[in-house]
Amino acid sequence: MLTPFMPESYVNFAEEGPRQRMLEALELVRSQLGRDYPLRIGGRKVDTSDKIKSINPAKNDEIIGHVAKAGSDQALQAISAADEAFKHWSRVDPDVRARYLIKAAAILRRRIYEFSAWMVYEESKSWIEAYADACEAVDFLEFYGREMMRMGGSHPVTPFAGEENEVRYIPLGVGAIIPPWNFPLAIMAGMTTAAVVTGNTVILKPASTAPVIAAKFVEVMEECMLPPGVLNFCPGSGSEIGDTLVEHPRTRFVAFTGSREVGVGIHEKAARVQKDQIWLKRTILEMGGKDCIVVTDAADIEAAAEGAVASAFGFQGQKCSACSRLITDAKVHDQLVDKVVERAKKLTLGNTTSSENLYMGAVIDQAAYDKIRSYVDIGKQEGNMVLGDTQVPAGGYFVPPTIFTGIKPNARLAQEEIFGPVLAVIKGNGINELLDIANGTEYGLTGAIYSNDRVHLERARHEFHVGNLYFNRKCTGALVDVQPFGGFNMSGTDSKAGGRDYLQLFMQAKSVTERW
Ligand code: NAP
Ligand code: MG
Repeated sequence: MLTPFMPESYVNFAEEGPRQRMLEALELVRSQLGRDYPLRIGGRKVDTSDKIKSINPAKNDEIIGHVAKAGSDQALQAISAADEAFKHWSRVDPDVRARYLIKAAAILRRRIYEFSAWMVYEESKSWIEAYADACEAVDFLEFYGREMMRMGGSHPVTPFAGEENEVRYIPLGVGAIIPPWNFPLAIMAGMTTAAVVTGNTVILKPASTAPVIAAKFVEVMEECMLPPGVLNFCPGSGSEIGDTLVEHPRTRFVAFTGSREVGVGIHEKAARVQKDQIWLKRTILEMGGKDCIVVTDAADIEAAAEGAVASAFGFQGQKCSACSRLITDAKVHDQLVDKVVERAKKLTLGNTTSSENLYMGAVIDQAAYDKIRSYVDIGKQEGNMVLGDTQVPAGGYFVPPTIFTGIKPNARLAQEEIFGPVLAVIKGNGINELLDIANGTEYGLTGAIYSNDRVHLERARHEFHVGNLYFNRKCTGALVDVQPFGGFNMSGTDSKAGGRDYLQLFMQAKSVTERW
């Protein structure tokens, strides 16, 4: 019997022990930079002439690795390898499948500093953000392993005289797993292993800006001797091979996390029945957000400022849960803004692979940098910049913490996902207006409200329409099975990753009756 699930706890990098271990891990990773990583199709390593070059966003001439890049031929091979492996893997006992995950979690936990260090290099995560990402990956493996053990076997139904009745959950088939880059270990490993532990076989196409960390994870699953063809590793450009993976008639489901635009495209393409396709595809789509923190006139302003800064600027604002709108009651606006700006000014920024424990790194790539800078220009038209355009280091995609006040609820800065360290402050009067502004976007992922007034909180409990709602704390940092994660409206299908309903999305129920 396993111990009950418990999320991993974080370390404190201000302490000498963890700091030393992180420095050693960074050194180890530095010695392994620039290596080649092949595709994995049906258990075979496959090289390609075309490569994805992964770089350090904070030091653009530093190459993290070269990863083989699949074209549609290799994507098709991966689908047929997965299809073949499904015949065997779908019949493996659920407890046995679960143990592959528990074993992989043990390996990851032993190497947690090393995996964190890879994310510091490949993504410019701060040490603690990288460490939290690795912890979450361990949590997904431990939790989904236990969940599969719970969900395996026969499930109760109402007894009926003269018959034996049961319901079992069986896998779907071949799945395309398409994760984003921003939680390159946790989300990638969580989506992949949820599909695998439920008896499906998959093609994992990692995000093109985070392929090395995915390759390292695939090595761990190989070390666990996961049977060939169960997890096919197929890095490649989403716009080049995405359609092949999504539209293939043997693809039974697609699990995607990423932007609204790509998610909606997958939803539409997967809905169309292809020639020789004998099922309706299932899609699990988790998309963007325009998340906010609401601060009422009854809030602890110091706590609200601390929560807003952590939610807006942690990992450079590149979390789907990041606070990009600070919606404040006019009565406390000035006091709150002063405190937020004061705190944000003190945040350190630089290349997080250095020996210093910095708060912020660079944003992921040139396209992200350009997009964020263009929104800073829009912000200057739509409001007043009270922080931003400060000096940043050279050589990487650095954007400093940026705050605009005077933003109208319907402004572009208040409606469109920027995915960077840009915070729009919006004023409202009273709880009705504050909640209307909070709900006034097409998204509904995370939100927080700071108030000591019970009436405000209970109104929010029912009316604040987001998948993950927090009272008197920041809107980022959901933990596996503590805050199952997923959003409403254009934030996706609310699949609640890291929750007790999640594995069912990767299975179908079969009812069996024997009459005696
Ligand atoms: P993205 O650009 O949509 O990419 C996500 C994945 O889709 C990548 O693997 C990408 O591959 C692939 N892709 C791109 N075009 C495709 C196509 N036509 N067909 C199939 N796949 C395609 O998103 P991102 O920039 O990686 O991630 C940031 C977004 O993810 C934000 O919007 C954020 O809010 C959202 N997000 C949501 C959650 C959540 O739980 N709701 C969690 C994390 C992130 P390439 O890299 O090769 O383009
Ligand atoms: Mg992208």
